[in-house]
Amino acid sequence: MILPVTCPLCKKTLTPDEQAAAYFPFCSPRCKQVDLMRWFDGKYAVVEPLDSARLAMELPETDELPED
Ligand SMILES: [Zn+2]
Repeated sequence: MILPVTCPLCKKTLTPDEQAAAYFPFCSPRCKQVDLMRWFDGKYAVVEPLDSARLAMELPETDELPED
């Protein structure tokens, strides 16, 4: 049995294509970028729960309305 590979940031299951991509082990360049920004901010020095406010700050695109 092969365990699914998931993005360490958003826990999305990675496709084989994504596992071969330059941004592996993340699911997307954006997740990789967010992870890097966290390192630069020193946020990994403390363990903080992810909350909606933090996600909104780090992933502003999620606030966009879906296109029709
Ligand atoms: Zn991700």
